[in-house]
Amino acid sequence: DPRINSIRTKIRLVPNFPKQGIDFLDITTLLLDPKAFKNTIDMFVERYKNKNISVVAGIEARGFIFGPPIALAIGAKFVPLRKPRKLPGEVISEEYTLEYGSDCLEMHLGAVQRGECALVVDDLVATGGTLCAAMNLLERAGAEVVECACVIELPALKDR
Ligand code: IMP
Repeated sequence: DPRINSIRTKIRLVPNFPKQGIDFLDITTLLLDPKAFKNTIDMFVERYKNKNISVVAGIEARGFIFGPPIALAIGAKFVPLRKPRKLPGEVISEEYTLEYGSDCLEMHLGAVQRGECALVVDDLVATGGTLCAAMNLLERAGAEVVECACVIELPALKDR
């Protein structure tokens, strides 16, 4: 698909961010190009429309950029999966381990009904730990996760 290259060239690599030795892939430069941003959303919409998906769950923070336009285009609701203590209502939480330490995602109770089909959206998959935590949350709420959609995959990390 020729759109992939147009998307790839708009993603910026920032060396040594957020710390020395890390190459950060930055999608904010993709967002500055309306055509490449639209191509990104269109490719996901083509893949996920008419698949009976009623929930798009976006992971904080960059899943909140790509998730909502996909949700609107396929006629699904959008559910934010947030870092701890951000959601005001009652939540279910899922802790997960990072390279150093741990993190946690939370979802509002009642946001998802048993039996619903869900898509998880984030900007980037590295180890897959964040996506696994998101899938666990949705499955604990009784949803079926159809697929996880990310703009970028880090090919060096094969453990996903
Ligand atoms: P994983 O859990 O190891 O797969 O890491 C994925 C999470 O870390 C996602 O929520 C990404 O947004 C974030 N992340 C890791 N590396 C990068 C990067 O280079 N650019 C943007 N986000 C990143």
